[in-house]
This record gives sequence, structure tokens and C-alpha cells, in this order.
Amino acid sequence: MNLSLRYKACDMSAKPSTTTSTAPPFSALPLPPATLANLQQLGYLGMTPIQAASLPLALAGHDLIAQAKTGSGKTAAFALALLAKVDPRLSTGLNPRRFAVQALVLCPTRELAEQVTQEVRRLARAEDHIKVLTLCGGATLRPQLASLEHGAHIVVGTPGRLLDHLQRGSLKLDALNTLVLDEADRMLDMGFHDDIAAIAKQCPQPRQTLLFSATYPEGIARLAAAFMREPKEVKLREAHAPAKIRQRFYEVREEERLHAVSQLLEHYRPVSTIAFCNTKQQCRDLVQVLRAQGFAALELHGELDQRERDQVMVRFGNRSCSVLVATDIAARGLDIALLEAVINVDIANDAATHTHRIGRTGRIGHVDEAGWAFSLASMDEMGRVGQIEHALGFTSEWHPLAELTATGKEPLRPPMRTLQIMGGRKEKIRPGDVLGALTKDLGFAGTQVGKINVNEFSTYVAVEAGIAEQAMKRLAGAKVKGRSVKVRMLEGEEPR
Ligand code: ADP
Ligand code: MG
Repeated sequence: MNLSLRYKACDMSAKPSTTTSTAPPFSALPLPPATLANLQQLGYLGMTPIQAASLPLALAGHDLIAQAKTGSGKTAAFALALLAKVDPRLSTGLNPRRFAVQALVLCPTRELAEQVTQEVRRLARAEDHIKVLTLCGGATLRPQLASLEHGAHIVVGTPGRLLDHLQRGSLKLDALNTLVLDEADRMLDMGFHDDIAAIAKQCPQPRQTLLFSATYPEGIARLAAAFMREPKEVKLREAHAPAKIRQRFYEVREEERLHAVSQLLEHYRPVSTIAFCNTKQQCRDLVQVLRAQGFAALELHGELDQRERDQVMVRFGNRSCSVLVATDIAARGLDIALLEAVINVDIANDAATHTHRIGRTGRIGHVDEAGWAFSLASMDEMGRVGQIEHALGFTSEWHPLAELTATGKEPLRPPMRTLQIMGGRKEKIRPGDVLGALTKDLGFAGTQVGKINVNEFSTYVAVEAGIAEQAMKRLAGAKVKGRSVKVRMLEGEEPR
């Protein structure tokens, strides 16, 4: 009866699917009896798949990269691991009554930090008096400082505020043994990379680092390489839904080629597309054609300086540009997480290049969404198509251009627009400051705000296209980090 009450109290839709018959029991893990009893009481009758896959490794002390979809029980997967190492009696050297922080959990938002705190507290009930403290931006500092004075065993918070406390010296990590990055993909999306790096640098070695994420964009691997030691990887894909690339080939005459790109865009309406050309000249021509037809297209080429290149990547990465037109060289090393389509405007010169191009679509963690790879080939290119088929062992699927129709829909527009705020890291602006200004001060919903990139002198924030004008006006009259800021919309042609 206790059980049904508990289930009522939590969000049923978010409940992961564990059935008592198939889920491995928590008792298979080296956990103390009191913890096992507490799990029973909580109604956690068996491990969820991500818990079963990651807890044995985490409890054995390994660094871990774990990926599983939202609602799969990732919090308990790291919470049980960090709790196993918390010594409630450990105090700071200076003050025997002040508990030493032994675990730190980084979360992207205050809401998530609060959810994690609650879950950790529930799971910690079995042990005596474990103190869990939440430190997030947006809340006043003074109570946080007071709580820190008393000490805490576990701290959960958002990167910006945690860094504040570290810089003030109010948060000390000398006794830390576990660092957790929760929702690492979202933290990267929100531009927290540098804050995370700065925090990780202040965490002592040796320590255990656990990284949890719903998706696996390329940035995660780089984060892991920088802060983790020989991490084990646990990825849970949904059964029968491997990452998929759907390839389609279209035969074109030379004079149809560029227009065929816009036909593809209008027919399939991908939010983000990279169009690969074999030459710079082809890139230039294509961008002109696409712009003339009203597409938000940007070109990535060798003549852009670093700042311009960054701006192009920001706008493409935050979904305020639909098409990135690039040569293979210009696109080398791009870190792009979400790509619905790749278009081979020209057939690649060899199979490896073809593979590399189309590998940018439909893979990264978004296992349930296949990506499109379209290739346009003229008669002259048929030989190369044949070589690529042979080398890669597939038979190309040909479709007629005539099947591409843009049946009176709205023109394809990007869902977001980019606002540039003059001021960045130099002004100590953090993503949270911008998010706070837009949501708390100016009344926009968090869901209307997209990626926030803080560069040295500029901050770029993506907002839903429908509120962009309004957001720009309101931001221009508001304050970010206590001072008024200049704001403009990045639009159209070249980056400036
Ligand atoms: P994620 O972080 O993967 O999105 P959460 O950790 O927030 O997922 O867990 C989702 C929900 O599932 C929470 O309400 C949590 O209390 C519950 N839950 C987690 N593990 C179990 C389990 N083993 N058995 C039953 N419920 C669980
Ligand atoms: Mg979670």
C-alpha cells in the first residue's frame, strides 16, 4: 500500500520500464543491506537497463560515460555509486564540525539540479545524515554561503554558480572523490563547456568521473578525453533502432544540379543540412542560388577568418541557418550534433570522402531518427558512383527528380534566430546570465531559448524565430550581468 502511494506521487509517464520478472535485482550489487531495504521501500524493485549496465562498473570505481534516453533512471545510476563512497563523518581539516564535500554533480539547469538533489536525498535516506546541497544561479548567494559554512557531503548545482563559489573560496573540493556530469549533452548545448573545464580542473586526482547523457554528440568525446581516465562506455540503444542513414541518388543534368538542391530541401524539409561541393566555385554558386530562393544558407570556406568561421558554426549549430554549404576541406573537424540531411551536390572523389560526408547525418545518439543522405550525379559521375558502391558494398537507390514536390508549403525557414550580444567571456558573461535575463527578467519561457554560445567578446543566443524581434528589443533595454548590453540579430549574408 505504501508502494502505490509512492507511485501516485511521482510522474508515471517518466517511469522507466522495469518489470520485476526481467529486471536484475539491486541485491546483485555490492550495496549495504540498509540501501537495499531503502530501494525496496522506494519501489525500486529491479534495476533499469542503464542501471544494470552502469552500476557494476561505477561501483568498481571506473570512470564512466553512460548514455540512455530520458527517464531511464540515470540519476540513481550515479547517485548509488557516489553514495557508496561518501563518508558521513569526514570533515574538513580546518573544522571538525564542517563536513567535507565528497561528490559534486553538475547539471544544466536549476530545475534538473533540484530533481537530482531530491532523488539523491531519497536514495541517501538509508544512511545517517547525509547532507545534500543545491547551488544554482538565480538564487541569492547569501543563504548558499551560509549553508556552505556548515558543510555538505554532496553538492549539486549548475556550472556557473559552482564556479562562482570555487572562485570565492566558499566551496572547497579537496576531499572530492566523485565528479558527475549529468545531462552532459545539454550542458554543452548551453555553452557550459568552459565552465565545466574550469571546475574539473579544480577537482583533485585521483577521483572518479561519471558522465551521463541522453545523446552522444561529438563534443562529449572531447570532454571525456579532457577530464576522464580510461572511461568505460555504456550506451543503451533502443532495440531494433540502430542509427540509420537513408541514401538516395538522383540523376541530374549539369544545368539542373543547383536547383535540385533547393528541390530536395523543399521536399524533405530538413532543419539542418550540409551541402558538400567539390570546389569552392560550386559552393559560391550554390549559396547564391539558395539565397535567391529565400533559404537561410551560409558558406563555409577557407577565406573566412576564425571569428567569421565561429559565427557561421554558431548559426548553423543553433539551428538558425538551414543549409551550410562547404567543401570537404572547409568542413573538416566540424563538431555538429544534429543533422537531418547531407547533400552531395557533387559526387565525392572517392569512397572514403563519401563515407565521411554522409556519416554526419543520422548517427549521433539520435538513434530513432534516421538521417538523409542525398547524392546528385550527372552521367559523367556514374563511374564514380559505381566505384563508391563497390568499395562500400551497397547498391544505390535511384529516384527521379520529378518526384520532388514542394506542395504549396511555407518556404523552409530555420526554427531559430541568433541574437548577438556584444560582450562575452571578457565581461564574465555566462550562459546562465543570458538565460536568466531572457526568462526571469524578460518573461520568455526557457523552451523558447536555444543554444547559448559565449565567446571571448560576443555571446550568441538562439531564440525561437517567432519571438526574435521582441527578444532583441527587450534585451536591448535590459541588463545582463548587471549592465546594459548592445544586441543585434544575425541575419542574411556574410557573418560580420
Ligand atoms: P533520467 O535521468 O534517465 O532521465 P531519472 O533518473 O530522472 O531518469 O528517473 C526517472 C524516474 O524513474 C524517476 O521518477 C525515478 O525515481 C524512477 N526510477 C529510477 N530508477 C528506478 C527503478 N530501478 N525502479 C523504479 N523506478 C525508478
Ligand atoms: Mg537525468
